[in-house]
Amino acid sequence: MYTVPAVSTRAIKPADGAAPYVGRFAPSPTGPLHLGSLLAALGSYLDARHHGGRWLLRIEDIDPPREQPGAADAILHTLDVYGFEWDGEVLWQSRRHDAYQEAIDRLRRNGTAYPCGCTRSEIAAAARIGSEGPVYPGTCRDGLPPGKHARAIRVRTLDEPVAFDDRLQGHQTQSLARDIGDFVIRRADGLIAYQLAVVVDDAHQGITDVVRGADLLDSTPRQIHLQHLFELPTPRYLHLPLAVDPRGDKLSKQTHAPALPDDRPVPHLVQALRLLGLDPPAGLERSNLAECWAWALTHWQPDHLPRQRMVRSEFHQHRYDS
Ligand code: GLU
Repeated sequence: MYTVPAVSTRAIKPADGAAPYVGRFAPSPTGPLHLGSLLAALGSYLDARHHGGRWLLRIEDIDPPREQPGAADAILHTLDVYGFEWDGEVLWQSRRHDAYQEAIDRLRRNGTAYPCGCTRSEIAAAARIGSEGPVYPGTCRDGLPPGKHARAIRVRTLDEPVAFDDRLQGHQTQSLARDIGDFVIRRADGLIAYQLAVVVDDAHQGITDVVRGADLLDSTPRQIHLQHLFELPTPRYLHLPLAVDPRGDKLSKQTHAPALPDDRPVPHLVQALRLLGLDPPAGLERSNLAECWAWALTHWQPDHLPRQRMVRSEFHQHRYDS
């Protein structure tokens, strides 16, 4: 049992003898936070504090073409006014390029990663379709064919199952060679791929528990594969149901999910708690922020999380009224 501080949203320290828990929230600054991202922030936060753990914040700003100017600052501001208290300094992926390059060099040196000269259309023409689109046909696996020059860097995959037990979604297994194919760790535009950066940084930050949206469930075997190649520990995973709009589309910038308003945190926190399977008392919407957090921190119940990949939210409807 942990005591809930009166004003702080931070729990105190792990029970004696409890294994340390380090969780994180890792938003990409592609736009302001919306209800969907709030679920991931809140779920990871409450789970970390429930276990007496630390909660770290990482801004995944390694894809400038997809980023929106000012979004990272807006995210930090919103988290702050919603009452999230992160431990230590924010980690900015844009400042971690050397670590990613070193990791790629390591895989290049031992032959696990190789340069690929194929264009998207060449791959599409030769590939069969796997669980996430074309499976790389292996054209450059044994060296760049004559006339091709290096564009991306890919990592070799194995035709054996990568398995893990998600705390919520249960046993998962995927054959990377069959379902995904050798995947990109440095893109043709020179940018570092998410899969590589996330693995390097989860290890760098000592993350023991990843709690995030179920849209990343299918990325996890790729991340576990990279952890094995780098001889890194594999964290525990819990993939939360994704918030979808009334049409069943994931809340995202692409589906015009409205930004969380900075001036009304409590009703949105309460809505997120409901979507996470909790049953806040009527009237919690009208409580103040400290009361809302005190309720959330004492009532977090991972066992009550909906065991599906999606939960439907009500906020958003007006977007489709016209
Ligand atoms: N940056 C990713 C996103 O915003 C999340 C990464 C993760 O939690 O592993 O979707």
